[in-house]
Amino acid sequence: MSAAADPSEAPVSEANGAERQARIVAIANQKGGVGKTTTAVNLATALADAKKRVLLIDIDPQGNATTHLGLGPAQRRLSTYDLLVGGAAAAQAVQPTAIGGLDVLPAVVDLSAAEVELAGDPARMSRLATALAPLRSRYDLILIDCPPSLGVLTLNALAAADGVLIPLQCEFFALEGLSLIVRTVDRVRRANNPRLQIEGIVLTMYDRRNNLSDQVAADVRSFMGHRVFETVIPRNVRISEAPSFGQPVQRYDVQCPGAIAHGHLALEYLKRLGGRPTKRRAA
Ligand code: ADP
Ligand code: MG
Repeated sequence: MSAAADPSEAPVSEANGAERQARIVAIANQKGGVGKTTTAVNLATALADAKKRVLLIDIDPQGNATTHLGLGPAQRRLSTYDLLVGGAAAAQAVQPTAIGGLDVLPAVVDLSAAEVELAGDPARMSRLATALAPLRSRYDLILIDCPPSLGVLTLNALAAADGVLIPLQCEFFALEGLSLIVRTVDRVRRANNPRLQIEGIVLTMYDRRNNLSDQVAADVRSFMGHRVFETVIPRNVRISEAPSFGQPVQRYDVQCPGAIAHGHLALEYLKRLGGRPTKRRAA
């Protein structure tokens, strides 16, 4: 197949920027500590390593994804706060990272006030979608790392997104949490974003020595079927060490099981997208 026939396969430098339309993917789960940020940073890195142009947007006031990618305070002068509340141009807030092909739109703690500051704005749920529109032609994929809640920030991400990736920790209450995020996605699809779909569920922190991990994985697969990725992210200490070095796990330890698993996840994800062109018709 020629590059012209399948823009998702075109090398970044050769792709026609004017025609590219990034697929926007929210990484969401209202539970904290399930692996959203870890998935966002390491999947974004693996996709960039697979020659995609990727933007990672941090809309969690904790700014963990921004820190995980090694950005210091000087690189956070403009952030998703300025975008959502101040009306700054997204292109000016984008920062390069140490990973070729991966840019980031950083978060700062001020973002925690967004809920209150946007309260009177009737268009508050679509602010991110509006701000991102001019960036879509620059990237193949835009991933959004959401905070652990279903407030205005996550709802902005879902309103802007084409798809949702749901990281799910292999633990006892996983299924309960899953039904809440699935219902929320359904609600946003009906209310204001008919194109939104669940892109996939990623099982994280899988521990093969623990029977509960197996049980949870089996339950989630029987409940959600093919929407659960085959690739499972194992519990791996290198994954949890990498953020404090400001590096994705693939740069911290390229051969560890966590790095390898995120590489597999990216390939499985791109294969799934294969049926769906990255290039979309103009609305
Ligand atoms: P969330 O963004 O959903 O709150 P994080 O991605 O920050 O969750 O993960 C929570 C904690 O668990 C972090 O300290 C992270 O380093 C650690 N962690 C995440 N995934 C793994 C894994 N597969 N193996 C080991 N530790 C992990
Ligand atoms: Mg997080």
